[in-house]
Amino acid sequence: MNGLMMDMPLNIAALLKHAARWHGNAAIESRLTEGGFHSSNWSEVEQRSRQLAKALLALGVNESDRIATLAWNNYRHVELYYAISGTGAICHTINPRLFAEQIAFIVDHAEDRLLFVDLTFLPLVEKLYGQFKCQPRVVLMTDRAHMPDTALDVLCYEELLAAQDGDYAWPELDERLASSLCYTSGTTGNPKGVLYSHRSTVLHALATCVPDVLGLKATDTLCPVVPMFHVNAWGIPYAAPIVGNRLAMPGPGLDGKSLYEFFEQTGTTASSGVPTIWFGLLNHVREHGLKFSTLKKITVGGSAAPASMIREFQEVYGVEVMHAWGMTETSPVGTAGSLKYSQRNLSTEDKLAIQCKQGRPLFGVDCRIAGPDNEALPHDGNSSGNLQIRGHWVTSGYFRKPDDQSVRDGWFTTGDVANFDAEGFMQITDRSKDVIKSGGEWISSIELENIAIGHPDVLEAAAIAVKHPKWDERPLLVVIRKPDSDLDRDRMLAWFEGKIAKWWMPDDVVFAEDLPHTATGKLMKLKLREQYADYRLP
Ligand code: ADP
Repeated sequence: MNGLMMDMPLNIAALLKHAARWHGNAAIESRLTEGGFHSSNWSEVEQRSRQLAKALLALGVNESDRIATLAWNNYRHVELYYAISGTGAICHTINPRLFAEQIAFIVDHAEDRLLFVDLTFLPLVEKLYGQFKCQPRVVLMTDRAHMPDTALDVLCYEELLAAQDGDYAWPELDERLASSLCYTSGTTGNPKGVLYSHRSTVLHALATCVPDVLGLKATDTLCPVVPMFHVNAWGIPYAAPIVGNRLAMPGPGLDGKSLYEFFEQTGTTASSGVPTIWFGLLNHVREHGLKFSTLKKITVGGSAAPASMIREFQEVYGVEVMHAWGMTETSPVGTAGSLKYSQRNLSTEDKLAIQCKQGRPLFGVDCRIAGPDNEALPHDGNSSGNLQIRGHWVTSGYFRKPDDQSVRDGWFTTGDVANFDAEGFMQITDRSKDVIKSGGEWISSIELENIAIGHPDVLEAAAIAVKHPKWDERPLLVVIRKPDSDLDRDRMLAWFEGKIAKWWMPDDVVFAEDLPHTATGKLMKLKLREQYADYRLP
């Protein structure tokens, strides 16, 4: 016998309708690409999204057409998220930090019909447009007064809206319909498209709102520093309308100084971003002897949050850190690191050690670690294996890539190496490609990097495998020193003593001026390994 409850499809537009109806005046503050600030709210965003939806239809957009954006975090980008998906089309967010040829590849792979562009990225589009075989119509996300001169045939966002009334009813869509598309940068090969559905997006938003994940409250002002072009800003533009918190959208200003000023100006209480962002912010506040007036909590993910960073935020600035793990393929949030009841009375040091792990699976996803024969490994805190995941918001295959093998027997292979302890906390020890295999045993490059970064003179560090005649591979540490530091090899290595097993000790240290990064700010270890392929260890 079936239950007798109403059956309503999970639609993205329902999030917006809820926000407009029940907390329409919750503000969305944006730093504008044109300069200056703009204050909007959910009521206005809903009204304007309806106008925009009509404009899209007037431009001939059909169900499941891909409509691309190249834009910062701001209120117009939020309107696009809702207008595009709400009409049944697919919001394809493009990461402008990808290599130019990757952008050209994904625009054509997705066959984008329209391309909405923030002014910052117009020069990029001008340069690339000739390479786009699908020739999308370009819309500049600004008003008439700020329209620049360009040889491209472009439309003006505000004019498109002004030409439409908001007399539009959001259609009830099949919840399995594709809603949005995001390509992962990858380190090799072409980017791969992850195609989210209305259902996966709404379920992910519901699951991330809870206190032990994003912990959002209607009294919060949340600043997603993580870009809307990178895994939908970790789903925050979909979670916020559920809760009714204020949003502070930082636009192009992501350096430490700009962020600090923006947080103070908007009264930001919570924020989310990758470690690089937080290093920039910490450097700024430390150097200038500043404090946060309102910031209380940050969520860190995308790369491992080192202990030194978590400690400084919590102990010096009174900002609670939530360490989470995820990937484009998992919408992205898969695990989050809130402590359990049994851990509440642990010492600060023991709590910190748990916070450095990547956390426990959210309800809605399941994880396992697999050994070389794909056998499930125990959760003993020691056994490291290939991390596999499945769940309501985990990809079942890439867009237009039918031969892909990353989902097998219902599990998606993440490419991460991890262990789980008996309490269910996961620790990512490496990307499977980056692990250092010394004498048949694995050394975690992430752990070496986290220790190195804890040294007061180290700005950034990468641990990579270098060929070794006896051990097959041994770790080499590549370090960027802070300006004016005279840190040398011996003092760097001495810093590791007592912190790791002896055989994990890097064989050598080289000091570099910079390190290569991917479009999402992660170390490009592949490139580094190529660079140091012939390095002779002492
Ligand atoms: P891209 O692949 O485009 O760089 P993703 O955000 O999809 O962007 O990257 C996902 C990968 O980032 C994960 O598979 C994992 O290796 C790494 N990652 C994400 N969060 C963490 C974390 N908290 N600690 C360590 N690594 C992380």
